[in-house]
Amino acid sequence: MLPWKGLFPHNGQGLLARRPRWCPICLYEDGQGIQGTPIPLAWALELYQVCVTHGVRLEDRCHVCTAKQDFLPSYPDPGYCRYCQSWLGHAAGAQDVSAPHVWVARSIADMIAFGSQSADLSLDVFQRFLVEQIAKHTGGNRTAFCRAVGLGDFAVSGWINKQQRPSMVQFLALCHGLQVLPTEMFAECPAESGSAYRHAPSARLLDREPCPRPPFARRQAWKQSIEAELASGSPRCVSELAKSLGVSRTCLRYWFPVLCKALSGQSRKAARERSSLRQRKEVAVLDDIVAATRLNGGVLSRRKVDQLLREKGLTISRPHLRKALNGMQNR
Ligand SMILES: [Zn+2]
Ligand SMILES: [Zn+2]
Repeated sequence: MLPWKGLFPHNGQGLLARRPRWCPICLYEDGQGIQGTPIPLAWALELYQVCVTHGVRLEDRCHVCTAKQDFLPSYPDPGYCRYCQSWLGHAAGAQDVSAPHVWVARSIADMIAFGSQSADLSLDVFQRFLVEQIAKHTGGNRTAFCRAVGLGDFAVSGWINKQQRPSMVQFLALCHGLQVLPTEMFAECPAESGSAYRHAPSARLLDREPCPRPPFARRQAWKQSIEAELASGSPRCVSELAKSLGVSRTCLRYWFPVLCKALSGQSRKAARERSSLRQRKEVAVLDDIVAATRLNGGVLSRRKVDQLLREKGLTISRPHLRKALNGMQNR
């Protein structure tokens, strides 16, 4: 992807998949080589989700043990599961994959294969292309253009005026909206390409649905709920509260960072207190068992104590009970 680095954000945001993924059929067809498994670059890119050769979704779990894999496997060949050592290649059956996913995968394959042949993959060329397309399709109206290709209203202005860079997902959404392949955008005569402006844009290519700004009254209600939670003796965590309010944790944290941080701290503290209280109660049960056994002149064996504990739904394998019993035996 090196030829494209001039176009996307410098931090490579959202570019790489978080875990290794693979096409099971590609691996299967390559055979269980002894030289190590070659992994195509496209598999490492987050947006590449469907194998263009086989039309199946990339997998990220071992088909035998279902474990996800790591980028630095202890097993030296990435074609094998690091947990059960099974070969990750297998003959996966036919799948229904969405057309936008296939389109994105094809475009990425195109970017990788032909990127280095395109004359000039710079922000400059991208900006010129945009200005031309906006003039052509919406008579220079940037907002109308953004809406038509399925981008946020101000996306292109940032790219044209402020030297902002498109994320790969925005870039591909734009290409999809215009029905041009990424490399066509940078071809010698791009005038030919954008002419195919014929498909409805697919919002599914974009990062996420735009989040409408919640009205003030609603935010006030959330704020009061957080404060009430904080005031309660045993507050729930931010996720649980958010769930009960029907919003995401991220949303609450976005609007009320300080309150949410306080709530996290308090709920963790409350959870620790609950846990310590429970442990004290369990040790008290153990104490009763030990005292009764001694009173009856019974042998204070670990096995016997465990048996009696199990009658109360406990077991000596819990660390705090084991530790307490050791103390009692030494008394
Ligand atoms: Zn494949
Ligand atoms: Zn496995």
